[in-house]
Amino acid sequence: MTGHGKEHKAKRKPSPTKPSTSGNPRRDAFADDIDNADGWTSTAALLCSIFELPDLSTRSGLKKVHKNFLEIYKRLDNAYTRNIENDRIVGGIVGIYAKMCADSLLRDRLFKQDFLSKIFPLLDRPSCCYVVLEALCNVTHHGGAEVRLAIAKKASPLIRLLEEQPNNTETCELAIVVLSHVGLAVVNNEAPPDPKLKKALEIPALLRVMVDQLKKPTATRHLIGHAFAFITGAAQHCSEEMFACPLVVDLLVASLRSEDMRTRCAAFAGITDLCIARCEEDCMLSDPRVRLAALQRGFPPHLDRALMAYGPERIDTTIWLNVSAQYQKAMMRVAQDRDMYTLGQTLAQLIPKVEHSIGAGAYQTQDPRTGKFEIDDMGMPFKTWGDALPMCAESIRTTHPDEADMLDCKYLVTQGRQPDAHIIALRAIKRSPLNGFFYYICSLTGDEADGLRMAKKGLKCPHLTNYVRFGLLYRAVEHAGLMGIRTLQGSMGDRNKWVEGSAFVKSAWEDAKLFAEKAPPDTRNMKNALYWYNLLSFVLHGFEISADLHELEFGIGALQIADDITVFFSEKQPSKTRMRLSHELVMKRMASAAKDWDKIVEHCATQTLPGDADATSTQNTKLEDNLAAWLDEMHLDGDDGEDSSHDHCLHGQGHGSDQQERITKVDNNDLELYRCSWCRNPSAALKKCSSCGRARYCDGGCQKAHWKKHKRFCKAT
Ligand SMILES: [Zn+2]
Ligand SMILES: [Zn+2]
Ligand SMILES: [Zn+2]
Repeated sequence: MTGHGKEHKAKRKPSPTKPSTSGNPRRDAFADDIDNADGWTSTAALLCSIFELPDLSTRSGLKKVHKNFLEIYKRLDNAYTRNIENDRIVGGIVGIYAKMCADSLLRDRLFKQDFLSKIFPLLDRPSCCYVVLEALCNVTHHGGAEVRLAIAKKASPLIRLLEEQPNNTETCELAIVVLSHVGLAVVNNEAPPDPKLKKALEIPALLRVMVDQLKKPTATRHLIGHAFAFITGAAQHCSEEMFACPLVVDLLVASLRSEDMRTRCAAFAGITDLCIARCEEDCMLSDPRVRLAALQRGFPPHLDRALMAYGPERIDTTIWLNVSAQYQKAMMRVAQDRDMYTLGQTLAQLIPKVEHSIGAGAYQTQDPRTGKFEIDDMGMPFKTWGDALPMCAESIRTTHPDEADMLDCKYLVTQGRQPDAHIIALRAIKRSPLNGFFYYICSLTGDEADGLRMAKKGLKCPHLTNYVRFGLLYRAVEHAGLMGIRTLQGSMGDRNKWVEGSAFVKSAWEDAKLFAEKAPPDTRNMKNALYWYNLLSFVLHGFEISADLHELEFGIGALQIADDITVFFSEKQPSKTRMRLSHELVMKRMASAAKDWDKIVEHCATQTLPGDADATSTQNTKLEDNLAAWLDEMHLDGDDGEDSSHDHCLHGQGHGSDQQERITKVDNNDLELYRCSWCRNPSAALKKCSSCGRARYCDGGCQKAHWKKHKRFCKAT
């Protein structure tokens, strides 16, 4: 640890109160021994032997404390009260309490005895402050939501300490660690935090002192890791406070270029969380009249160039115009010939070609007197054209069951009944496993893993129309992207989870790239795919992207075109979705964020810090004087494991993951283990080919489809 200057020790050492009244009848006999003890560790050890405590470093020792808890607590508490003026003794007792907190049951019992009220007043004593903070670190590190929340209520003195003594490196580090532990317990939940608790945390002041400490050259990875964990964890429910503190937002942005993938991932998640409160729904429907009017005005030159380069006959706009014309014609004809059978077949042909327009519209007649258009059923059995779909389906069901199901699915989706459409599509896939349209319907609903698998399988179907292909591809991007980030965030130290999450992210990024390169520039999901593509580029290889973002030129340029096309056709700005806001934030602020934070981000990600050498050399001197080593020494392995690691602090995630190796990026060979050999679906639940043990598949369907290709390889092994 850097900055462990002699001056701090010099300040602290003389302070433990020397006995002033040796004749005090309330003074314990052992007080003299304690006064002569050398450092906190021996103080604590001495107190343990004086109070005849079992070995607190072992499970069996803690169990013994458990059996005699009230008696032991009374002994300690009496000594605490009698020696309240003696900093050494009360500090040592606080240390003993903290050590007991490694056991969750003891922690709860101490908590019920209100041991926090014994701890906090000691913060004001200069000689106790450090030991108290170490105790609080230990208590909060071992988890226990109740204790963390109770300490969160008392955050104020800790924040004042950081404000008043910002240069006291060690106390500041401990205070940040405690505040991060308890702060996360308050704000890092799915549900919004209790307003009272959030207020007690003084978020604006807390963010300020954190930035202050992060900016110091003495900041350790431990400090940075905990501050960063708090900032990313608080992003969702404290977004307004963070936007008011631009340096905090910039830290998240700058961290996207860290050498450490965990940090980049946490930053990405933090940034998207930050944008939840301000985002709006993606408005997909554009008014066909506005669209037509725009077409009549003609494309501005740069859009014309982009669309012509793609192929004027293949762009969405052209297909939309053609299909709309055919649709109108078919609906007009059926009003004449009443032939629902032919209409059904025609519509089934049109449905996979275009997203909108099929199902919209109605017959209208103009009132000759008023000139107004009115809906008129023309004697047909349906009022709006959408209602014709299920009737058409019935008329072709026996001869064309797939087409009938497509009409039903389309009808149900336009009615917002996706789950019902899903059921029909699943049934249809059993009959026709190579019809991509049904996979598309299935990819719209269901859970993400299921939706992703369906999208990937659908992409392997032959004869896909552009609408179905890019519909499937975009579903694959979104499902895999969301799952990947969530898996990475939850992976902690679990390497397998980490590779699995990376496989999802990689898959999403590859599909987004394919989408950006191959889909029509005017297709509706182009912007969304580009947000994913650009942002996931940071998660995967942010350390290779410069602060001026020139490596992302392609994605940024393509997005500009996609934006201009949206504005051109809808005369509205693109919807401010969560991904759009996140993207905007990153692109706008990266240059200045890098200037402010690059050094610190780099400093944290590098495995050996210049300060680390110092840390080892000063460690021995340091440990003599504080309780850290004693508190850390635990041999709790084995039996009941009641305090399993899931409850521990989260600082392994993101900056300063000191106990874990740094991961810059994940090896492709590792990722292959999480991809289906046939459809490339990333999943942790693949089944191995039983004869070669190498190929992996979603299910028998993928294995069967892959066999022709795989056969030779499989037999060769
Ligand atoms: Zn921690
Ligand atoms: Zn095989
Ligand atoms: Zn598969």
